[in-house]
Amino acid sequence: MAPPMGRAQHRLAVVGAGVAGCAAARAIAGAGLAVTLVDKGRVPGGRLSHKRLQTPAGPVTGAIGAQYATATSARFGAHLAALAQQGLAAQWCPQGLEPDRARFVGVPTMPALLGEMAPHAELRMQTRVAALARAGDGWRLATDRAPLGPFAAVLVTAPAPQAQALLQPVAPRLAEAAGAARLSPCWSALLWFEERLEPGFDAARPGHPAAAWVAREGARPGAAPCGDLWVVQAGPEWSAAHLEADGDAVATLMAEALAVVCGTRARPAARRAHRWRFALVAEPAGPDTLTDPERRLAAAGDWLCGPGIEAAFHAGEAAGRAMAGWFA
Ligand SMILES: Cc1cc2nc3c(=O)[nH]c(=O)nc-3n(C[C@H](O)[C@H](O)[C@H](O)COP(=O)(O)OP(=O)(O)OC[C@H]3O[C@@H](n4cnc5c(N)ncnc54)[C@H](O)[C@@H]3O)c2cc1C
Repeated sequence: MAPPMGRAQHRLAVVGAGVAGCAAARAIAGAGLAVTLVDKGRVPGGRLSHKRLQTPAGPVTGAIGAQYATATSARFGAHLAALAQQGLAAQWCPQGLEPDRARFVGVPTMPALLGEMAPHAELRMQTRVAALARAGDGWRLATDRAPLGPFAAVLVTAPAPQAQALLQPVAPRLAEAAGAARLSPCWSALLWFEERLEPGFDAARPGHPAAAWVAREGARPGAAPCGDLWVVQAGPEWSAAHLEADGDAVATLMAEALAVVCGTRARPAARRAHRWRFALVAEPAGPDTLTDPERRLAAAGDWLCGPGIEAAFHAGEAAGRAMAGWFA
């Protein structure tokens, strides 16, 4: 279906189809502008990622990135409530965690929290943006595939260090601001057991350096059958100390940590570790929006006012609205 006529002659590009990029694309499309989302990943979601693990019982998938979303603002609370009404999110109250706040997971998997894609948005997945280049009044994107554009404006929603690298040659002020954010790394592992573990909880923050967060995947509402699959996340210091270690060796160490935490001798029959170099915002960059109206460039992500999914949502939506205002 063609986008509505009128303002849609302006096409904007959003680099990154995570929470921030998708929220921005919805705001841009909602203002009647055409939008192209470009992401190097196979599917949208960014750090709301699910990964496959091959087990002796067949393939299973687990949440290797963000575990749940919480809302402090009415706006994001309403977004989560609307997703829940559409069956795309559900509240999760795992045994082992205080019911001190409403935690929402995507159904059936975390990327469902992205909500519906922006109407008429063009999606270019598996396309890594290598550089932004001026094209007349607008911008072209050099990618590892064919170049894209021209675009009337570009929003970069990659994690701060990657956004900084893309922006440095064309918008040093935005790049410098992105450079102020600090993101800590996280090793995350999927561990599958033939026999069900019985530690007396389905999720916990045990405080172990290599198992700072542990959760039984199958306890999440709407999860597909996956046997006894556990997600384990190491703490930031341990993750930084093991950043360049081999993934299989890391998965073994994290399985040992889970065994200690759960008080079991059981060892996983399948395992997989994933290294997130830029996982969680330790220090946000500060401003709520980061825009250069003259150059028609902007940057957004959890790293602006983070941490977390809610921060990414607000930053993306604010950037999308600000950019739409340039063409009012
Ligand atoms: C292990 C882990 C656990 C977490 N747990 C929680 C949690 O429980 N609750 C919570 O609220 N938050 C959690 N978070 C943080 C949360 O996932 C993020 O705050 C949020 O998803 C960030 O969204 P974003 O859109 O800003 O960035 P991202 O999700 O990182 O999206 C950026 C996108 O840009 C793409 N990209 C980057 N560079 C390029 C390029 N050059 N070309 C094309 N595409 C590019 C990437 O592929 C990615 O899809 C967790 C994160 C991790 C890693």
